[in-house]
Amino acid sequence: MIFQQKGIMIRQTNYSESSRIITVLTEDGTQVPMMARGFNKPKSPFIVLRQGLKEVLFTYNRFKGIGTLNETDVVQPFKYINNTFSVYTYASYIVELIIRALEEDQQQESFYRLLIKSASLLEDKSTPAAVTAFAAIKMLPYYGGQMNVDECAICGSRDRSRFSHYSFSYHGVICAGCFNEDTGVRSVPVKSQVLYLAGYMKHVALHNVESINITDENGKALLKFVEMIYDEYTGVFFKSRKLIETL
Ligand SMILES: [Zn+2]
Repeated sequence: MIFQQKGIMIRQTNYSESSRIITVLTEDGTQVPMMARGFNKPKSPFIVLRQGLKEVLFTYNRFKGIGTLNETDVVQPFKYINNTFSVYTYASYIVELIIRALEEDQQQESFYRLLIKSASLLEDKSTPAAVTAFAAIKMLPYYGGQMNVDECAICGSRDRSRFSHYSFSYHGVICAGCFNEDTGVRSVPVKSQVLYLAGYMKHVALHNVESINITDENGKALLKFVEMIYDEYTGVFFKSRKLIETL
């Protein structure tokens, strides 16, 4: 049977001197392995897959198991991302955040939508660290993590401007009124703007986000905060995170 689906290549391995087996995350959120014959040849028909992040229309045959790739057409080339090293590094981090949570044989359409949304935001020059934080916040539940930034874990206040710390004893934000030497054990100071943004990103629907433009400094602070939550609750480590730190 012939299929035609949009997707993003998420993995590739050499199969022979000239061919590779690639795995595509398709628009319906499934992982499809495909044989790409001639991939490694100089005049490869699949040259568009050689480098960078791209949304591609894949035409392939598949009955059961591995498919055979016939044709590729680029849908979104993400030129700015692929030509800007720092932005590409953030994009790689986002890809890793999303695909590490994929389970074999499970359909995760929302993962695909998050990946395309994040890439589109980066391409449109939203703040890279903030877009990465956004993707990480949306993925957090899939790693079993939690982030409680809506109300003070002690008094229940929802006055976001007063939130001052994130507590790993109370598993949530605490406000300046509740913070003291005792309640502050295992807590870290976090700027109220950062906590506000984290809450916004947690609740906003994907289709309502058209751009994320904040200062680089706040974007990085937000990403650091989310990474701290990941460290505490998930125990997953992302290789790309190391690269980001070298930028
Ligand atoms: Zn409080």
